[in-house]
Amino acid sequence: AHLDRIAAVEESVHAFLHVSGDDALATAQDVDARRAAGEEVHPLAGVPIAVKDVIVTKGMPSTAGSKILEGWIPPYDATLVERIRAAGLPILGKTNMDEFAMGSSTEHSAYGNTHNPWDLDRIPGGSGGGSAAAVAAYEAPLAIGTDTGGSIRQPGAVTGTVGVKPTYGSVSRYGLIALASSLDQAGPVTRTVLDSALLHELIGGHDPRDSTSIADPLPNLVESARRGATGDLSGVRVGVVTELQGEGYQPGVLARFQESLALLEKAGAELVEVSCPHFPYALAAYYLILPAEASSNLAKFDGMRFGLRVEPEDGPVTAERVMAATRGAGFGDEVKRRIILGTYALSAGYYDAYYGSAQKVRTLIQRDFAGAFAQADVLVSPTAPTTAFKLGEKLDDPLAMYLNDVATIPANLAGVPGMSVPNGLSDDGLPVGFQILAPAKADDRLYRVGAALE
Ligand code: GLN
Repeated sequence: AHLDRIAAVEESVHAFLHVSGDDALATAQDVDARRAAGEEVHPLAGVPIAVKDVIVTKGMPSTAGSKILEGWIPPYDATLVERIRAAGLPILGKTNMDEFAMGSSTEHSAYGNTHNPWDLDRIPGGSGGGSAAAVAAYEAPLAIGTDTGGSIRQPGAVTGTVGVKPTYGSVSRYGLIALASSLDQAGPVTRTVLDSALLHELIGGHDPRDSTSIADPLPNLVESARRGATGDLSGVRVGVVTELQGEGYQPGVLARFQESLALLEKAGAELVEVSCPHFPYALAAYYLILPAEASSNLAKFDGMRFGLRVEPEDGPVTAERVMAATRGAGFGDEVKRRIILGTYALSAGYYDAYYGSAQKVRTLIQRDFAGAFAQADVLVSPTAPTTAFKLGEKLDDPLAMYLNDVATIPANLAGVPGMSVPNGLSDDGLPVGFQILAPAKADDRLYRVGAALE
């Protein structure tokens, strides 16, 4: 049924870069046979899933939305893909994204735009717009995204889906094509909070192949979602972040946010106003730290090891000239912009002024979170300041595009988990997201509050 749906709507949505119909059907049939034989299978066995193209899948193209990886077939699976396959979830294919996950609209993909199923002239968010659109358009019931500065939560918000960025280190990064290694985290994109909990428990947990993987077991997320679904939040202190509302946020987004706060209060939660005074500097710090890490991570795309190789048009074929020709042809404008920003910020003489200062701001943001979580069990805000904007509207204005991430970035800088749950429709008839943040390793709190709002 999902493959039929993909065939019917892909032409207008373009959520996928690759569809693996035969493999998915084979897995589904295998699960059916195992069930028929009385074998006990995972609760999600047979439920199809779409995977963001920045995650490597053995034998299946993995381009990260870039021309530089066109034609590369990974020889191994990411840990989370291994777990998905072992549990018997048919992988429907790989979803579209901004090149190397740089963007908030999926317009920076080298393979064309994804369209928001709510209004095909609008962006589906980014960088994981393909995963969110696939779920919103009923092409896939489950999807995997990655969130470095909001790329799971913001697409979730603008497509009316649930998106979760787990605690940093709680889902293995082994097999994720790295954007910024200290910020990247993979997580679920689904239609319900309970679906996210089931998927999060499947993909999460310790992995010795990721040196930043947390050794402790995950908290019980499914149980927490079920508890939240009873609608009782008595005893839960909900911190409303002063700095993540007001100027720059659409009136309709703020109105829906206020309505949800009233619902939380009705469910028994105690609302407290908390201040995180350094959050207004998070965006500036992020757009130094991210390009710095990205410029270093992307150095491996040299025309020798993976995917595209372009030889210079004339003159000697030296390693450096192949590298220059390959990177010149293979990377898009946004990737080049960030490599230039990152190498500049890291260069001798500028390092302390830019990268060093940004790291200090990062520490201050972590302290803001520590202070806020001393007063509240979870923090809440709108996920994104606006609903989905029109395709092309911010493409020539990188700063306007970056501003979309104001509310999501602090969580990545501090490593804390975050969730976006659907928060009704704004005055323009487009979906709004409600963001919930919790302390590191307390992802279960997201599920309790998220399920109560659903
Ligand atoms: N929009 C942010 C950026 O462009 C977030 C990206 C992400 O989370 N992968 O960097």
